[in-house]
Amino acid sequence: MRLLLLAAPGGGKGTQGERLASHFGVRHISSGDVLRAAASDGSPAGREVAAYQQRGDLVPDQIVFELLVPVVAAAVAGGGYILDGFPRTVPQAITAADIGARLDLTLDATIYLHVPEEVLVQRLLARARPDDTPDVIRHRLEVFTDTTSPLIEYYRNRGILVEVNADQPPESITEEIVSRLPAS
Ligand code: ADP
Repeated sequence: MRLLLLAAPGGGKGTQGERLASHFGVRHISSGDVLRAAASDGSPAGREVAAYQQRGDLVPDQIVFELLVPVVAAAVAGGGYILDGFPRTVPQAITAADIGARLDLTLDATIYLHVPEEVLVQRLLARARPDDTPDVIRHRLEVFTDTTSPLIEYYRNRGILVEVNADQPPESITEEIVSRLPAS
């Protein structure tokens, strides 16, 4: 199974990523976690990643691809992956699709977890990660609207978008996703 999770900050990508990975027995790959791990390694490149994340800005594509592609490639051998947060922009999706085509890999579906904005903000403020301050949250929501949300249309046009109401208990969301996936 090869899935991409798409959601605004606070949309529940991490929670559903874990749940779907254990359901399908594949690896959950959170780009935010991979980048946070790189950010904390003390290297100059790590400090650069940390600065982008603290501001709520997207990390430059070159760094993202360098760090994420090997992780995704390793997961392929294990039978698939649940991608959470990567690709996150249309240019990233185009480059990722090119790389995937060369490896004869395509996504089975992209899941868009839809949550009303006021619920997103409540969830993020309750979580209190270092980039979950009111100003940075506002900025990350803008980045989602401007830069990530065009991916909804991009994958809808490719016929692989599954949109779910993600303002429900986590178990119900997972059930809905699993029941609506294309038969493989
Ligand atoms: P959220 O979706 O709640 O904002 P994530 O853990 O997915 O949390 O992402 C946190 C931060 O990591 C983002 O604000 C951004 O700085 C960086 N990031 C994650 N994925 C990507 C990506 N694909 N491209 C660029 N930056 C990314």
